[in-house]
Amino acid sequence: MSEKTIFKRIIDKEIPANIVYEDDQCLAFHDVSPQAPVHVLVIPKKEITSVEGIADEDSALIGHIFIVIRNLARKLGIAEDGYRVVSNCGVNACQTVPHLHFHLIGGRPFGWPPG
Ligand code: AMP
Repeated sequence: MSEKTIFKRIIDKEIPANIVYEDDQCLAFHDVSPQAPVHVLVIPKKEITSVEGIADEDSALIGHIFIVIRNLARKLGIAEDGYRVVSNCGVNACQTVPHLHFHLIGGRPFGWPPG
């Protein structure tokens, strides 16, 4: 059996995280290395490696995660000024943890296009 990812260990409460939201389908916690005043990761509890690993049957789960992201942006006070939602997928995007996650980042302006 392959080793648990760090995010699976957070889901299983084997290692601590600064959790801001949790339900039966997903978990949200502050990124340990924040790139903005607000930097939260929202992850499914289901083990999905990346956007590339999303199955057709996961559509309701992914929709739910985006509702959670919208609500968290409001709760964390970044909805009015705007924010970015990012999911790095694979090597070229510098994905470092092979468990699907959405970065919710805000609290300052960002440039476009990204580097
Ligand atoms: P990515 O490069 O898109 O795979 O992003 C992985 C993110 O996970 C990075 O922003 C890391 O800072 C963050 N990260 C790694 N380990 C932890 C942890 N134990 N708790 C919170 N965030 C983490």
